[in-house]
Amino acid sequence: MNNSSIKPPTITLTSGPVTIYPRVQEALSRPVPYIYDPFFQDFYQKVCFKAGTALREDGPALILHCEPAVALEAAAASLIGPTDLVLNLVSGVYGKGFGYWAKRYCKELFELEVGYNQAISAKQVADALEANPEITIVTAVHHDTPSGTINPVKEIGRVVAQHGALFLVDAVSSFAGMDIHPKDCNADIFITGPGKCLGGSPGLSILSISDHAWAHMDHNETVPRSSILSILDWRYAWKKENMFPFTPSVSEVVALGAALDQYLDEGPEVVWQRHELTARACRAGIKAMGLNLWPECEEIASPTTTAVTIPKNLTTEQIHTSARQRYGVTLSAGRGETYDRLVRIGHMGPVAEPIYAVVAVTALGEAVRQHNICVDIGVGIEAVVAEISRSV
Ligand SMILES: *Cc1c(COP(=O)(O)O)cnc(C)c1O
Repeated sequence: MNNSSIKPPTITLTSGPVTIYPRVQEALSRPVPYIYDPFFQDFYQKVCFKAGTALREDGPALILHCEPAVALEAAAASLIGPTDLVLNLVSGVYGKGFGYWAKRYCKELFELEVGYNQAISAKQVADALEANPEITIVTAVHHDTPSGTINPVKEIGRVVAQHGALFLVDAVSSFAGMDIHPKDCNADIFITGPGKCLGGSPGLSILSISDHAWAHMDHNETVPRSSILSILDWRYAWKKENMFPFTPSVSEVVALGAALDQYLDEGPEVVWQRHELTARACRAGIKAMGLNLWPECEEIASPTTTAVTIPKNLTTEQIHTSARQRYGVTLSAGRGETYDRLVRIGHMGPVAEPIYAVVAVTALGEAVRQHNICVDIGVGIEAVVAEISRSV
């Protein structure tokens, strides 16, 4: 047996899974209720409505008992049928990945792809829809996390609605960290999860589905049933008198209830504001100490993740190892295309607090300095502090 013990990190500044709130931690330690005990049936219904409230919907949200990546595949399988023409918007690794699922189910796939340090404009989407008026579904990632960039889905959603297509939005790493809800972007399917900005446990997905999308799924002749990829199976699971298609992830549901309470009690606007300030302060510090932000301009930089370009001749491995060994700070890497090109500092959930911008600048600054890249950490920290004090 290997006896060497790796110490857990001191501070986790990742872009998911993230550090969870204490009340989520407490919820995870509660007993596991039986799913058909009235206690859990009632609790489940309440959590679905609470998630609906957080999404600013009148009715319940739909919970799937899997990671959001599985929910995205389920949405592709359930919504997209053999008569659909899909326009997939790609500004990063998640957008690209969704296209592989979409292609499996649709008649024809169109892709609008930009550089992974750029955002897609509503105008580009309008032009693509004009060029291919038969398109029935548009799919987008709001915050393509491995790029640290935000697409303007509110504006894009208006263009898609005007065209009369359905709009599917991956808001996994933006919802609850900034002002975005299904209705804001005319989303027909809006997918998020507890393991990012909600500061919850990462094993569930939360979906909002429009009447139009339900009707489309009902008419999809290849829609999956009795399957992990079925959304229809779970349509009425929120009703306490109904059976579940299979055993839900009970403890994760209890934890989701706590994460939603945390979010709603603190107040969404307050939560978004500290995400935004932390990211802004972090960007100021990164630039001031002499490193470069990955997004092509700051207007599209995410308030929940700061992507920093890796200096020439350095690797992710070198930076992560230094930050972790010297300070116990865990950062996220790029993914796929962006791997070894950027490192990511997450500002999600409980670490979306401005003081963690000081931590990030210090750990990242020292990590690159250890590899002979000249940065001025002191100047970086002064810039963080200046940004924070400007806002109080
Ligand atoms: C985290 C995340 C998901 C979920 O996918 P995993 O890779 O399984 O964590 C989906 N979409 C986006 C944009 C995400 O950030």
